Amino acid sequence: MSPDPWTAFLDWLTTIVVPDWNQLIAMLPLFLVIGVTGPLLSLVFLLWGWERFKRRSGKVRVALPEPQPAPLDADGRPLFPANVPYDPRTGLVYPQDRITSAEDGTTLLIRCPVDGTVREASIQTCTACGTRFILGAARTPAVIRRTGKPPAGGAAAA
Ligand SMILES: [Zn+2]
Repeated sequence: MSPDPWTAFLDWLTTIVVPDWNQLIAMLPLFLVIGVTGPLLSLVFLLWGWERFKRRSGKVRVALPEPQPAPLDADGRPLFPANVPYDPRTGLVYPQDRITSAEDGTTLLIRCPVDGTVREASIQTCTACGTRFILGAARTPAVIRRTGKPPAGGAAAA
């Protein structure tokens, strides 16, 4: 029963270590909250942001190839903007890279921005003044016009 130095050392050690462990165990729920909920929350936040980003860019892409009804004048007739393919029978304005109607495949028409001459959309150069219309070249303005429909109608009416 002699108190050897090793036992004395262990006894002394427990006085230091045990309170620390108790404290650590008491703080374990806090670590769980920080260590598990934190990454989970940031993951959920990232997924939410990614879904939002995907949905927004998807919307723009879906809206692009769709024909849109042209704005109407006071008599209810469609006002077709210049240099944009359109179908006079349905009153629809088509994306810049379209030549034929989506319904029956007939050739769309295009009005020259310079002299107002109407020609088939498959013909790139105005037969009257020689102004060239390259399909797909004015794609970006077409997208802007499509998302902001009311200003385009006002401009066309004036
Ligand atoms: Zn022309």
